[in-house]
Amino acid sequence: MAGIYIHIPFCKSACHYCNFHFSTSLHYKNELLAALLKEVRLQQSFPGMEQVSSLYFGGGTPSLLENEEVNQLIDEIRTHYNLVPDAEITLEANPDDLTEEKLQGWKSAGINRLSIGVQSFFEEDLRWMNRAHTSSQATEGLELALRYFDNITIDLIYGTPGLTDEKWQQNVTKAIALGIPHLSCYALTVEPKTPLDKLIRKEQYENVDPDQQSSQFLQLMHWLEEAGYEHYEISNFAIPGKRSRHNSSYWQQQPYLGLGPSAHSFYGNERQWNIANNNTYITALQEDRIPFEKEILTPAQQVNEYIMTSLRTMEGLDLQSVDDIQRKVLQKGAAKYINSGLLLLREEHLVLTKEGKLLADGIAADLFF
Ligand code: SF4
Repeated sequence: MAGIYIHIPFCKSACHYCNFHFSTSLHYKNELLAALLKEVRLQQSFPGMEQVSSLYFGGGTPSLLENEEVNQLIDEIRTHYNLVPDAEITLEANPDDLTEEKLQGWKSAGINRLSIGVQSFFEEDLRWMNRAHTSSQATEGLELALRYFDNITIDLIYGTPGLTDEKWQQNVTKAIALGIPHLSCYALTVEPKTPLDKLIRKEQYENVDPDQQSSQFLQLMHWLEEAGYEHYEISNFAIPGKRSRHNSSYWQQQPYLGLGPSAHSFYGNERQWNIANNNTYITALQEDRIPFEKEILTPAQQVNEYIMTSLRTMEGLDLQSVDDIQRKVLQKGAAKYINSGLLLLREEHLVLTKEGKLLADGIAADLFF
C-alpha cells in the first residue's frame, strides 16, 4: 500500500515558529494548481503506486482552497492512480476556514479525515504564535467540524513560554471533552531563521525551557493514557481505530509520492524532494519538467532511518527485521539504555519507555550504524 501527499503552499499569515514551505501571497494560486494537476499526471508511473490507500492534503493551508479546487485535485488523482475504495483522505484545515460550506464541500469531495491546526485554545498563546485564528474560532470551528466528520485530529503545541502547566492541562482536557479522537502534540521547536528564532535572538521573546517541555510531555502522556488514547507514535495519540493510516505508512517505510513544491517522495532506497519555490516549480511544470533532487540511501542510511522512525512508534524496533550482524550491534548498543530504564526489550522489539521518549532522538542517533 502507498500514500500520496499533496502540498498546498499558501497561508494567510506566517506563524512565528513555522519553517514549512509556504507563501502568504495567493497571487499565483491558479498557476500553481495547474502545475500540480500536471504533476499528478506526470508522476503516475512513480514506483510502488499500484494501490494507494491514503491521500493527504498538507501545507501550507489546504483549507484555503476553494471546494472546486479540492474536487479537481481528487478527481485527477482518481483518474491516474488506483485510490482504493476505503482510502483515508485527509485535509489539513485551519480553524478560521471551518465554515459549513467548506465542510459540506470536503465531505462530498470524499475527504474523510480532517487535521485541524488548533495549537492552543488560549487567545494569548495564539497571538504569541501569530496564528491567523482566534480562540473562539478554534472551539466553534471544532464543534462545527465534528458535525460532519468523526475522524478528526488536532495539533497542539506545548512548551511555549506562556503556557503554564494549568493552561496545558486545560488545552488537553478540552480536546478530550470535545471528543477529538486523535491528537498530534508537538514541543515548540525554535527552527533557525524563523521569525521566532529572530525574536528570541533580539530578546523580544523568551526562549523555550527544555525542562518545561519535558515535564509537559510527561503530563500529556499521563492524561491521554488515562483517557484511553494509544500513544502510537511519539507525537501522536489516538483512540483505538483512529490512528492515521497515512502517517503510519511513513513510519513503516511504505512508498509515498509527494506532489507540489517542497514535497518529499520515497521508494525503497530512493528519496526525492521537489524544489521549495513556487515560481520555479510552476515554470518547470509549464515545461513538462518536475524540478526535484534525488538521493540514493546507502544500506547504513536505510537501517538508520528504520531505527529513527521505528523507535518513535509504540511497536518499537523489530530486531527480527534486521540482519544477524546488525541485530547483535543493536542489542549491544541498547543494553545500557535497557539497564537505565529508557528502553524495554519486548518480544524481540526495542521499545522506548516514557522517560526514554524524552530522549528519543539522542538514543536513536546513538544506535546508528
Ligand atoms: S498555517 Fe501552518 S504552514 Fe502556515 S505558517 Fe502557520 S504553521 Fe506554517
